[in-house]
Amino acid sequence: MLHIGCHLSNSKGYMNMCLEAASIEADTFQFFTRNPRGGGAKAIDPEDVSEALAFMEKNGFVKILAHAPYTLNPCAERPEVREFTLNTMADDLARMEATPGNMYNFHPGSHVGQGIDKGIELIAETLNTILKPEQTTTVLLETMSGKGSEVGSRFEEIRRIIDETELSEKLGVCLDTCHVFDGGYDIVNDLDGVIEEFDRIIGLERLKAIHINDTKNPFSSHKDRHEKIGNGFIGIDAFERIVNHPALRELPFYLETPNELDEYGREIKLLRSLTH
Ligand code: FE
Ligand code: FE
Ligand code: ZN
Repeated sequence: MLHIGCHLSNSKGYMNMCLEAASIEADTFQFFTRNPRGGGAKAIDPEDVSEALAFMEKNGFVKILAHAPYTLNPCAERPEVREFTLNTMADDLARMEATPGNMYNFHPGSHVGQGIDKGIELIAETLNTILKPEQTTTVLLETMSGKGSEVGSRFEEIRRIIDETELSEKLGVCLDTCHVFDGGYDIVNDLDGVIEEFDRIIGLERLKAIHINDTKNPFSSHKDRHEKIGNGFIGIDAFERIVNHPALRELPFYLETPNELDEYGREIKLLRSLTH
């Protein structure tokens, strides 16, 4: 069975997210570790967490995915922005240990004119500071659309970040279907070719999660605007190939489409109906 969930608000805690996920027959979910525009994180309630862990175990949930706030930038030019990013990510990773063995996704960042090499160097520097040998969380680099000076829209850039990270065994990749299509990887007409390229450059063993989104913009637009499944330029036929692809079908899928909970439920049903 397809492992799939959607992005949920964590404002009412972990157990609430579990119940929302279960209500739409999801077996996982994604959430922001704190306000997506940055700021403080709510204290973790140990009772809420232990209740949620038991629920997930009992209901056969697969790994859940935390998402770092959008405002972080590990390769910002200003040192105070990099320091804020580093402290926030370190705090997030410490909190993640309350739910051991799950995943934490972040955007590699924007080099803001410093150049791709400098960007990659600064991202690896951040990872080399925050990753700890004892952590149980896998940190995922998200593939980006290449909007502005975003790092991580080419598989080669992701590879270089991994190569420059000492504890690279803690790293994985989250492939966002909207982002890679906007970024110039043609998953509509050549899904096999894109997956082969991912394997050759990064290695499929690094691929840990899929953000499953349609896109409002045509191929290679470098825009990053998500669309509901089937309503955009990727389209339902391509999603059928994506959820059935032997290299992808066992991975957890997370919807980040512009939807309310009940519409997410319909997309989950729709995507499951496409599996064979
Ligand atoms: Fe993201
Ligand atoms: Fe995404
Ligand atoms: Zn996006």
